[in-house]
Amino acid sequence: MLARIDLRGSALPGVRDLAGLLPRAATDIDSVLATVRPLCEDVRIRGAQAVREITARLDGVDAEDFTVPPAALQAALDGLDPAVRAALEESIARVRTVHADQARTDVTTQVVHGGTVTERWVPVRRVGLYVPGGLAPLLSSVVMNVVPAQIAGVESIAVASPPQRDNGGLPDPGVLAACALLGVTEVHAVGGAQAIAVFGYGAGACEPVDLVTGPGNVYVTAAKRLLRGLIGIDSEAGPTEVAILADDTADPVHVAADLVSQAEHDPLAGAVLVTTSEALADAVLDLLPAQVAATKHSERILTALDGSQSGVVLVDDVDAGLAVVDAYAAEHLEIQTRDARAVALRVRNAGAVFVGAWSPVSLGDYIAGSNHVLPTGGCARHSSGLSVQTFLRGIHVVEYDEQALAAVAGHVDALAHAEDLPAHAAAVRVRQQS
Ligand code: NAD
Repeated sequence: MLARIDLRGSALPGVRDLAGLLPRAATDIDSVLATVRPLCEDVRIRGAQAVREITARLDGVDAEDFTVPPAALQAALDGLDPAVRAALEESIARVRTVHADQARTDVTTQVVHGGTVTERWVPVRRVGLYVPGGLAPLLSSVVMNVVPAQIAGVESIAVASPPQRDNGGLPDPGVLAACALLGVTEVHAVGGAQAIAVFGYGAGACEPVDLVTGPGNVYVTAAKRLLRGLIGIDSEAGPTEVAILADDTADPVHVAADLVSQAEHDPLAGAVLVTTSEALADAVLDLLPAQVAATKHSERILTALDGSQSGVVLVDDVDAGLAVVDAYAAEHLEIQTRDARAVALRVRNAGAVFVGAWSPVSLGDYIAGSNHVLPTGGCARHSSGLSVQTFLRGIHVVEYDEQALAAVAGHVDALAHAEDLPAHAAAVRVRQQS
């Protein structure tokens, strides 16, 4: 369990070679495109009938209509366990508090007298939010998708989640209840690539959307990649992963528990410990078998921890550890070292950082207030997790008066001729001649 990679004793290789040495799932989105492309085409051409047939084949549910009736949303909320309802309400409140601070205000810059540029922040009109439901019904993902969209001011929100055979072909009741709690009224019982195609092309009662967000398995991610352009997407949020940077001050019981909790998501989940302490590595490896055996999804967890996407990386010091975790660019990064806050401030690449002994990833999954839809597979090098900003577009509004334009006419002329685009220069000149 957990292959060992020993990088101690010599200089670390450059970033690209280092990233190549680290354990990571080889999720080949392109190979799945051959499956996903015909599914999406079928939905584009045949609409709701195609969705019905694909859902029957892949999810074992044959329903005439995939849109969830409003009464089913209220019924799910009425039947929700009060403890889960209280936890969801607290989660919603905290996620709202954090995301409210991300709201943007329009800014007008006076460039010169008579010339302004305003940046207007305008919400996307209609969005499709995907909530996974294959291996686990991720009701928390409803909160993480819906709250930032609502704070951004999105006018029309649709949610899709896979139908469950044991819930009469509707999505998981917890997912439906979370939608009802947040005031979402449009929910579709469709999963996988076909859900993304329904969002992109429209089918049945679902009108096409402008933007799709949310995590999902490799089929969901492949469909998002395929339809990108027709629709906007958030980052590719694929199989989940954690890296833990720890020294000899970390508690091996906590570290092992956090690796196990992440592996619980998915046989493809990645769990990577990067440590300066061989004693910690040994202790964690000793603890894992018992922790894994004692938990419900031990088979899935064992597959994830044994897989090529998981491992223990030994490094000489925290500086080397930081170089490793930056090269890995984890979706979730825990810092369990001395001066954890100072170490965390030096991290360049991560979807979210969890600082110190009392901030496990599970806290962020549910109720820290942070968002749990985060970039995976190294995409944290260039992308952020879901936020209010995901649902906004910044529009530059340019307004110059006659004098302000005249003052730069010569510059426009020079640049237009340098680019061999004389009509650009003429568009300014005609205004001065009239
Ligand atoms: P899912 O809802 O993404 O996928 C289930 C759907 O996949 C089913 O409805 C089915 O239609 C489709 N499907 C299954 N087998 C198929 C096949 N052979 N061909 C075509 N389609 C098929 O649920 P999941 O599978 O549990 O995956 C959820 C993923 O989301 C996990 O990998 C988890 O790690 C990830 N996740 C990521 C984040 C993040 O922020 N990165 C957050 C939460 C979850």
